[in-house]
Amino acid sequence: MARARDPIADLRRIAFLLERANEATYRVRAFRSAAKALAGLPTAGLTERAGNGTLTELAGVGDVTARCVAESLAGEEPVYLRRLVATEGSDLDAEATALRAALRGDCHTHSDWSDGGSPIEEMALAAVELGHEYLVLTDHSPRLTVARGLTAERLRRQLDHVAQVNAALPEGFRILTGIEVDILADGSLDQDDDLLARLDVVVGSVHSGLKDERSKMTRRMLKAVANPHLDILGHVTGRMVSSRPAGVTGPGDRGHRARTRAESDFDADAVFAACAEHDTAVEINSRPERQDPPKRLIRRALEAGCRFAINTDAHAPGQLDWQRFGCERAALCGVPADRVINTWSAEQLVAWTHNRA
Ligand SMILES: [Zn+2]
Ligand SMILES: [Zn+2]
Repeated sequence: MARARDPIADLRRIAFLLERANEATYRVRAFRSAAKALAGLPTAGLTERAGNGTLTELAGVGDVTARCVAESLAGEEPVYLRRLVATEGSDLDAEATALRAALRGDCHTHSDWSDGGSPIEEMALAAVELGHEYLVLTDHSPRLTVARGLTAERLRRQLDHVAQVNAALPEGFRILTGIEVDILADGSLDQDDDLLARLDVVVGSVHSGLKDERSKMTRRMLKAVANPHLDILGHVTGRMVSSRPAGVTGPGDRGHRARTRAESDFDADAVFAACAEHDTAVEINSRPERQDPPKRLIRRALEAGCRFAINTDAHAPGQLDWQRFGCERAALCGVPADRVINTWSAEQLVAWTHNRA
């Protein structure tokens, strides 16, 4: 077994690096408080608590800090610390800008066929103006009736319509077909297999039963991730960090006007391991009120070897410019451009999705 590190020194180092990176005060405080709470404990007591998972019973110690301590005691540099060190001293602003510049399209967008506010043509023209080479249209699936999810029949009609719109769009740009398909309670996908096979890109998201208990949610997500039709796992935790993004009004925000919502509970390491195994990309959702997954989970997905898609989940043309927010979060976590599938050309992207199913 590797020699234990000093977990308290590791927690303090993390707090220091977060402060220097000008991260939110509450986050810094979490690490400082945990270091303080643990400083009084004898090493044997610490090891015992890390072993039986009772570190979090101590005041000031949360899931994230407890995991860091367990990793330190096992002789590993905590993942959280490793990522901070990896991005230390780098110009995050420049990295986020470079990542944004490397993106050639957006893989998660909605039109007024479901709960978006604008016609497909307008979304496409805005994407052209942003310099995108493609836009994947991912309207909702049938069971999401509140968002006017498309039945199989409406989706078939949409595919014909997209073909017509594409014919009139500028050379070098195209709308790729897609869906944001509901991951149902049993982990199956809410659309016919033949249609899922026909679409260029399939994003799958959980929109119901977000409070399901951990083992059930984990099973549900694992089954979806293993489905060869699923290319991208959308807004992984379902959390809502603010009621609505600043300056966003109107019908384009329908379906996203939820209150603050906690992350759903699932075994993230198991889900990310499955994403890596099945080569399913993890979405970094750029919506300001989602910011999903949280950074600690982006870091774990990166460690697990997952690919990512930095998407806007735009419900209106102006929101297509929100990719910058996702790029900032990705840069903070050290996500390299070569792990991001929408840095690929449309041809590469479609070759990848069609190879998968
Ligand atoms: Zn969604
Ligand atoms: Zn969406």
